Amino acid sequence: MEMETNGILPGRTKGKATLRVRSLAPYSAEFTSGQIGVIADIAEQYGSGQAHVTARQTIEIADVENSTIPEVAALLNNIGLFVGSSGSFLRNVMACSRWCLYNVRPVSDLAQKLNKLHADRQLPGKTLISLSGCSFSCTRSRTSDIGVIARSNIALTDHPCIHCTLCVREPLGCQVEAITLTETGPEIDAQRCIHCGFCTTICKPATIGLNGTSFDILIGGSGGITPRAGVFWKNVPTEEAVVEEVDSLLTRYAAVAEHGERIGAVLARSGAGCLEEVGHG
Ligand code: SF4
Ligand code: SF4
Ligand code: SF4
Repeated sequence: MEMETNGILPGRTKGKATLRVRSLAPYSAEFTSGQIGVIADIAEQYGSGQAHVTARQTIEIADVENSTIPEVAALLNNIGLFVGSSGSFLRNVMACSRWCLYNVRPVSDLAQKLNKLHADRQLPGKTLISLSGCSFSCTRSRTSDIGVIARSNIALTDHPCIHCTLCVREPLGCQVEAITLTETGPEIDAQRCIHCGFCTTICKPATIGLNGTSFDILIGGSGGITPRAGVFWKNVPTEEAVVEEVDSLLTRYAAVAEHGERIGAVLARSGAGCLEEVGHG
């Protein structure tokens, strides 16, 4: 099999490469100002003076002389940055910003754990993991090989509704029209609800209450030339359970996939059962 070099992409100029850089600290979606300064210095000294922010939250430094790659990699490693995230290795684990107001729960720590555990893992095909802090899925978790979406577990309580109507009207009401107000209080359409939890924050008497948070895991999504929507796999309650499930899924995928085949293609060929069965073997 042809050797793959993780994160070193052939450049458009002979003898030069593009280095794809990801962050393991602070986490896979964040760079400190100090790191950005070092990347700028490296681009200036070793490259063309420019850098590109990729769709998967990595930074590419272009036109680096092949002979200087070990030196540049060492400079990056000193500040928590690593060359990687290409080919059939697990790509950079993508995650929402920690400071987005809509985070049901921040996913930064989870992204860091997954990236550290699996950063250099070689797999049968390109493999993307994307984490979203809420159902809006800005990080494309619905079209990644493994998508994780934080969700609010909402529950109707026995606190009487005061019919303020905030939960059903603009600008703060349910965005997907999952709530119907009746004389006795709200009714929630479970098929429409996307578990954003907004209603629990605006319902003052807590008629609609928050009963903890959890994570939906989707698998088999992809973009590019064969776009596929990920399908629901499991709902799990904790970050630890997500870490276990992702490890198990990657292991099963590695065992059953053909060379170059992505998780969605495995599902299309053999169904989700093959991923489950191998894990139990
Ligand atoms: S998915 Fe939700 S938490 Fe993440 S960036 Fe979008 S709105 Fe914010
Ligand atoms: S959690 Fe509430 S606001 Fe969000 S979709 Fe469900 S019913 Fe609507
Ligand atoms: S469920 Fe809560 S937010 Fe909705 S009308 Fe009743 S009191 Fe207001």
